[in-house]
Amino acid sequence: MSEFDYDLFVIGAGSGGVRAARTAAATGARVAVAEDRYLGGTCVNVGCVPKKLYSQAAHFHDAFEDAGGFGWRLPAAPEFDWATLRDNKIGEIKRLNGIYGRLLDAAGVRLINGRARVLDAHRVEVAGETISAARILVAVGGWPWVPEFPGSELTLDSNQIFDLDAFPRRFLVLGGGYIAVEFASIFNGLGSETHLVYRGELFLRGFDHEVREFARDEMAKKGVNLHFEANIEAIERLDGGLLVTLTNGERLEVDAVLAATGRRPHLEGLGLDGLELTDTGHLRVNDRFETSVPSILALGDVTGGPELTPVALAEAMHLVQHHFGEAPPKTPLDYRNIATAVFCHPNIGTVGLSEEQAREQYGDIRVYTTDFRPLKHTLSGSSERCLMKLIVDDESDVVVGAHMVGEEAGEVIQGIAIAVRAGLAKADFDATVGIHPTGAEEFVTLRTPTRR
Ligand code: NDP
Repeated sequence: MSEFDYDLFVIGAGSGGVRAARTAAATGARVAVAEDRYLGGTCVNVGCVPKKLYSQAAHFHDAFEDAGGFGWRLPAAPEFDWATLRDNKIGEIKRLNGIYGRLLDAAGVRLINGRARVLDAHRVEVAGETISAARILVAVGGWPWVPEFPGSELTLDSNQIFDLDAFPRRFLVLGGGYIAVEFASIFNGLGSETHLVYRGELFLRGFDHEVREFARDEMAKKGVNLHFEANIEAIERLDGGLLVTLTNGERLEVDAVLAATGRRPHLEGLGLDGLELTDTGHLRVNDRFETSVPSILALGDVTGGPELTPVALAEAMHLVQHHFGEAPPKTPLDYRNIATAVFCHPNIGTVGLSEEQAREQYGDIRVYTTDFRPLKHTLSGSSERCLMKLIVDDESDVVVGAHMVGEEAGEVIQGIAIAVRAGLAKADFDATVGIHPTGAEEFVTLRTPTRR
């Protein structure tokens, strides 16, 4: 018999925690999970899933407008009902919470409702119980962070924005990251007068520069009011709204302000003060996902890697193989070439290096771009355009980056990501016969470099 109550005690039933718990249990490990909020974590409850549903709701706006050119006459101007969308979303998330509970149950994992506190290297306290475990896994994710300024308490964060009682007719989002551009597109599409305020000269820092410019122009065409090189100075409550004063002197009256100013590790009250942190305040882990106390493991957003659900899932699989598998993985988890999508409108999909990164890393590169009006919009009358871009290391001919801004960019780039990860050459792309007529075929028909 083991000297511990459990082989693995997981704190946090989000994407990474649940995957680690189930996978470890499948190896025969005795596993318990503590969760004090909701099953499925940020992604299921206040992130990827509800965001994608709202993004899809917002796309109908364009679809209704596009339909006219194809002969569809709508009997009246479509009206949007926020309560229907919000409540249908709540129902779907409840269903997913149930699925997560049943998955843990079926795997033989004990679920404990409560916020766990780590007492020492092998003991936690949760819901009045002290439990010992050979290994403790911290998978508590992140939490929205909002800077302080006069009136900052009047902002909403990305946990609160999903369940608003009333639809904001006038909406402002502060920030220039994923959440800011996605929610600007969502509320703009749903019919709000929308403002995005970002402190830098161009949002989506870190993405390919041309992609950022293209997304800026497309979002502006769709009606999002972009205020760059500005921040919020103050927010005051007015009768029936909020008055937002920007650092550039502009004053905007809105109904809701979303602060999408980043997320921080959710470590408060966990009893982990002695653990080593990174410069950004995340838990430092090695490639076995061990913190500075080797029996305490951590993965996902709390460790400061790419804050993406599939990354947490991959980390969970790797971690379990390391600590519960018959043999450890042969190599550390490979964080290169992780594809990602930003669900602004139009969507962005990207994998590999930006043009700027590739130029720095390889020196001589070839850049292939195409910027076109999708076939659909020849009849719809929409002025929406699509950008596709391949970046090639000139010496090896290997495609080191692929980027798209356009409808379903994430769906397209997911396929291209396999080729980029496999290290395929531009010649392989050229030898691939396209699917016609699609937008995606442009990725295999780009013949002449736009620049070197
Ligand atoms: P990000 O870190 O991506 O962006 C935060 C933004 O807030 C940046 O533009 C930053 O500006 C700005 N900011 C930070 N501090 C201040 C301040 N004091 N005043 C004004 N602006 C400020 O965070 P998000 O909250 O957008 O998202 C968190 C993470 O969640 C993302 O990085 C991503 O990994 C993940 N996510 C993924 C999604 C997806 O896969 N589609 C969707 C949503 C989130 P600056 O750039 O100048 O630093």
